[in-house]
Amino acid sequence: MTAAYLREEHHMFRYAFRKFLEKEAYPYFSQWEKQGIIPRAFWTKMGENGFLCPWVDETYGGLNADFAYSVVINEELEKVGSSMVGIGLHNDIAVPYIAAYGTEEQKQKWLPKCVSGEIITAIAMTEPGAGSDLAGISTTAIRDGSFYIVNGQKTFITNGIHADVVIVVCKTNPNAKPAHQGISLLVIERDTPGFTRGRKLEKVGLHAQDTAELFFTDAKVPAENLLGEEGKGFYYLMEKLQQERLVVAIAAQTAAEVMFDLTKRYVKQRTAFGQRISEFQTVQFRLAEMATEIALGRTFLDDVIEQHILGRDVVTIVSMAKWWITEMAKRVAAESMQLHGGYGYMEEYEIARRYRDIPVSAIYAGTNEIMKMIIAKNLDLV
Ligand SMILES: Cc1cc2nc3c(=O)[nH]c(=O)nc-3n(C[C@H](O)[C@H](O)[C@H](O)COP(=O)(O)OP(=O)(O)OC[C@H]3O[C@@H](n4cnc5c(N)ncnc54)[C@H](O)[C@@H]3O)c2cc1C
Repeated sequence: MTAAYLREEHHMFRYAFRKFLEKEAYPYFSQWEKQGIIPRAFWTKMGENGFLCPWVDETYGGLNADFAYSVVINEELEKVGSSMVGIGLHNDIAVPYIAAYGTEEQKQKWLPKCVSGEIITAIAMTEPGAGSDLAGISTTAIRDGSFYIVNGQKTFITNGIHADVVIVVCKTNPNAKPAHQGISLLVIERDTPGFTRGRKLEKVGLHAQDTAELFFTDAKVPAENLLGEEGKGFYYLMEKLQQERLVVAIAAQTAAEVMFDLTKRYVKQRTAFGQRISEFQTVQFRLAEMATEIALGRTFLDDVIEQHILGRDVVTIVSMAKWWITEMAKRVAAESMQLHGGYGYMEEYEIARRYRDIPVSAIYAGTNEIMKMIIAKNLDLV
């Protein structure tokens, strides 16, 4: 059964995108995992073929595609490997800030290159001292004539090494009370004086995903790089974080489906005690339980996607989908590895990589604890 939001053209698009990935990504993915980065050349090919930000308006070089195309892209990228998440972040998380809050000049300057792949984007919220508590960030951007002088440090930034344009969350008014009213979004470009990159961080999983530290030391950012209005950054984030969480849920659901397929194939060919292990009832029950959880996740996720496409308020349900689906995918990963026996712990088996890639989905885009806080707040309990 396919989701109601997917029409014939989306299926055709999926077919074409999968063909593209079979040629340009699958054969190289293990090499990228070893190198610790996805080469820029791949991004450029994505852009040349219309797979970067297809939702961008035609005026700025996009295809005006609906969100169902983004769903297809994120699912197919996840099937290659979770490390492809940086592309989804560019497509459906970072660039939408420019499209939604940018001035006409800003949109003309950056959007066409985001579509072509000449510009790779990142969004920098997290700092060494503040992650979940966004209002507690300490990076400042103080207006000085026609510039903002930016000082601070960001960490765990996806696309941090490749990024040509970084949307940086900073305090233009460090004394604002409440603190979140002093937060603004600044677009900081690659060659800005005072902007440097730190290490490419070594992670437990997502080895090919580029994750880095960013430093700003008296970085001189033109005042016209302010995105939207001063002091409104926190509200813009609250608006756009919904799609970010949805993208994470889509990836985790896809990962769970991939892990299930890998495991089903494995238990059908592995033998023990004179029979295929898929013939043991205990193995069958575990697969039955996984299949049930995956089906529940898919049904709920498709409903959330549908509501999001219709422009409804999805704050509560997207938080539910994000925490539940990522936890479900973690359970599926653990069960799948167990059912692979010792081979599941070997690098040559895909389940090993999937197992170490999945836990971060419960951490980024707002931890699952933060998701539950949002849901509880909207339950009107106090
Ligand atoms: C691979 C990777 C990629 C990332 N990409 C980006 C990116 O592109 N841009 C970006 O800005 N950030 C990015 N992040 C950062 C990520 O969003 C943060 O790590 C996350 O928001 C959690 O923040 P923290 O690490 O500071 O943990 P903390 O906020 O210190 O939380 C630590 C623990 O305390 C819990 N906790 C915190 N507050 C509460 C509370 N009130 N009640 C109950 N429990 C609480 C948390 O849930 C968590 O379990 C990335 C992180 C990783 C690992």
